[in-house]
Amino acid sequence: MASRQIEDLHPDLQPLCREFLSRCTAAGVEPLITCTYRSGAEQDELYAQGRTKPGPRVTNARAGQSAHNFSIKGQPAARAFDVVPVIGGKPIWDASHPHWQTMGRIGETLGLNWYGNPRAQFREFPHFELAKGYQ
Ligand SMILES: [Zn+2]
Repeated sequence: MASRQIEDLHPDLQPLCREFLSRCTAAGVEPLITCTYRSGAEQDELYAQGRTKPGPRVTNARAGQSAHNFSIKGQPAARAFDVVPVIGGKPIWDASHPHWQTMGRIGETLGLNWYGNPRAQFREFPHFELAKGYQ
């Protein structure tokens, strides 16, 4: 199981993530973190999905290539978190729901790279990543 713990994020991303969550709540959006850190083995398992295993393709990254796989001195230090808006206990995966744009705006205001932005290298609405420049 991939981690959902904020403590498994990069030290610079942890306070940004906490601020992101509280700003979302203040804006009337209930965010649910679905993934912070993912091990190399978990990443490879995800990569196999839709290729050598059944299911839809959900990632183009192999082990070590995803910002979720990042570690510092062997400790999880993911450079990205995935988050979905929840309404009445149900995750809203439909990216056309306005809550996604609210979350995206909040993340970008905090300097995070939001992959729901049309300028992202590929679209992945739940994915918020620490900007380059953080070691
Ligand atoms: Zn992600």
